[in-house]
Amino acid sequence: MVDLTRTDIRYRDLAERLDWTEEDAQLLSELAPQLRDLLSGLSDEILRSVDPGSELGSAPGGGGTGAASPMESIQEHVDLWIEGVLSGPYDRDYLMRLWQIGLLQAEAGLASRRTVTLLLLRLRSALVDAFASRSGGDGLRGLAALQKRLDLDLAVIQDAYAAAAEPEAASSARMTTLQQIMGGLAHELRQPLNTIRGSAYYLGQLGLEQQGLEQVGLEQGGALSAEKTAEHLERIGRQVEYADQILGALSTFVSLPAPAAAPLSLGESLEEALERNPVSGDVVVTIGNLECAPTVLADPGQLQIVFGNLLRNAREAMAEGGCLDVVARRVGDQVEVAVSDTGCGIAARDLPRVLDPLFTTKPRGMGLGLAISRLLLETLGGGIQVASELGRGTTFTLTLPAASASLEPAAPEGSP
Ligand code: ADP
Repeated sequence: MVDLTRTDIRYRDLAERLDWTEEDAQLLSELAPQLRDLLSGLSDEILRSVDPGSELGSAPGGGGTGAASPMESIQEHVDLWIEGVLSGPYDRDYLMRLWQIGLLQAEAGLASRRTVTLLLLRLRSALVDAFASRSGGDGLRGLAALQKRLDLDLAVIQDAYAAAAEPEAASSARMTTLQQIMGGLAHELRQPLNTIRGSAYYLGQLGLEQQGLEQVGLEQGGALSAEKTAEHLERIGRQVEYADQILGALSTFVSLPAPAAAPLSLGESLEEALERNPVSGDVVVTIGNLECAPTVLADPGQLQIVFGNLLRNAREAMAEGGCLDVVARRVGDQVEVAVSDTGCGIAARDLPRVLDPLFTTKPRGMGLGLAISRLLLETLGGGIQVASELGRGTTFTLTLPAASASLEPAAPEGSP
């Protein structure tokens, strides 16, 4: 499905970075009439030169069923794109056509995908050559505008392709984590089950013994048996509760909904998380300049889960007080958020396992907070890393996809 808000935001961000202006759009549309004839039939001609056997008809979905093959659909959309590339308007419909090329490219088989990439590259050089030879006095400036336009359009197609491939990557990350959890769970459940089996065996033996004593008319050991019986019954009750907790945690994991990513202010999210998970008065909280930090693309509820887990862990690690620092910075398309505490730290041998499901060093811990956080962040296209020194403190660094600084999700009408 096309996520319009995300597409618009990415488009605006790219346009700003490539310095695509209204003037560029104007220049291209003035030069368009001189070049239009060069463009007609271009995709057909290039497709045949790139792929002499042309996959038309032989690609899945073709084969005489009357339905368009993926390559035919792609070519149709490429033709529509070429029609508008010089004259615009570069509006939402135009964006959607680009997006569609990326999606179809993701759907097509590997061979078709390679052909489309080649087609786009050849198209680019053909357009640039045509421009250079036909555009007269404004050639150089026009060429620069065309290069920007093509960079922008190919980036949108690439984005659509990546977005189509993303759910696949996310679901395989979830599968791997689930497999790890299943393995860990089997191990964890064995412990309460063994205890229950031991206690049940003891109670059974006790019952038999009791019966035997009654048969010979003795009442020996009655007080001891009642005490032991109560102890074993209580032990069984505790272990059943523990097993129930483990299964409850598993179902939280399995039923995590898919993220609904939207542009979010980091500062506001963190403030909300601190309100929900207050640290003690002995902890000094320093929040870097998050209002100026770039906005992120994330699911608000899921980001609360992540921050909540980190804040509760930091609070527990600094039971005696300390400092909690949060800073953010932009790194390319991502935002890095570092959450540092001066708590107990993590032993070097535990460090590689803290993000794994069911790893815990706490007597009443479940060891799922960080594993869930990692899964949520990876599903959003980000991640989490940890650095720590025993006795000195710990830093968790989150990465999240950045959203553009200007966030109105309006359509890029006429010009971006
Ligand atoms: P839980 O809190 O239930 O143990 P988590 O997945 O949240 O589960 O954390 C796993 C383990 O990582 C903790 O048991 C603890 O050993 C370690 N840990 C997490 N955060 C910190 C921290 N800020 N400081 C020290 N140790 C931490």
